[in-house]
Amino acid sequence: MSQSTLQHFIVIGNPIAHSKSPEIHQQFAKQTQLQIEYNRQYCPDDAASFSAVVEAFFNGGGVGANVTVPFKQVAYQLCAEQGGLSAHAQVAGAVNTLLLKDGKLFGDNTDGQGLVNHLLQLGWPLQGAKVAILGAGGASRGVVLPLIEAGISELTIANRTLSKAEDLIDQLRAASPVIDNLAPTSSAIEALTGHYDVIINATSIGLSGDKLPLDSELSCHYTYDMMYGKELPFLTHFQQQGAQVSEGYGMLIGQAALSFEKWTGASVDPSLLLGSQ
Ligand code: NDP
Repeated sequence: MSQSTLQHFIVIGNPIAHSKSPEIHQQFAKQTQLQIEYNRQYCPDDAASFSAVVEAFFNGGGVGANVTVPFKQVAYQLCAEQGGLSAHAQVAGAVNTLLLKDGKLFGDNTDGQGLVNHLLQLGWPLQGAKVAILGAGGASRGVVLPLIEAGISELTIANRTLSKAEDLIDQLRAASPVIDNLAPTSSAIEALTGHYDVIINATSIGLSGDKLPLDSELSCHYTYDMMYGKELPFLTHFQQQGAQVSEGYGMLIGQAALSFEKWTGASVDPSLLLGSQ
């Protein structure tokens, strides 16, 4: 596509006014000297409305759409019915990036690889790493395959509700031989103990400001919280033990960078949006 052609993008969500995606993608457009229009698209919270919004957008010449809460699973269903899904979207059971492939709707998921790219950018070694993820919701599910592809050697998924961690592991092992081979283990959060190379908080507890019940013998070299823009007691806890820590803004930038690259074919440098981190 010619560099002077204006390309249209949206992020679909509910609520959507808070989304930082338009600003992030405009930064990538500057880097690549592409002309883009990227808008927030509110959508009523039902599958029929979502499908109508997506159809109208692509019929109108839209190039790519991001999908955020609460539509990632709905987008997955729509792509499964109408078009195709990337391997990462299939395992995640969720889609955050929509595009047209051979005229058909195609769903991808860049959240997990966005996290991995940020961890590598921070210089945190993943090859051979022993990793624990706290949380067994959509965010946790989406990062497991990319972390294993990045070379981690052990994985525990810990959750407040242990049965949900167990179910998630069963589903992930059935969905991917790569995950099955690694054989992740499950734990209740308060029972997680010992030393890990990396501990990732993928619970939504940061929204409440509450503290997770962490064992006093639990330690790690590196601690990541997918939340951002708030004071995060989870990070403070491990920082006081001497761990390196990071909040999740770089993951947000990372997933956006990958979406932009898939849509436009242009390469971007997400680290330029992260200041001195
Ligand atoms: P879900 O609602 O799917 O899952 C929430 C998880 O948090 C569950 O495992 C739940 O446990 C756990 N949880 C909620 N409250 C508590 C609590 N008080 N104590 C212990 N555990 C709790 O959310 P998502 O997986 O979609 O998102 C999780 C987080 O990741 C959110 O904060 C989100 O903002 C962030 N995120 C960040 C991204 C980024 O780009 N930086 C991308 C995607 C997500 P249980 O099963 O027991 O209910």
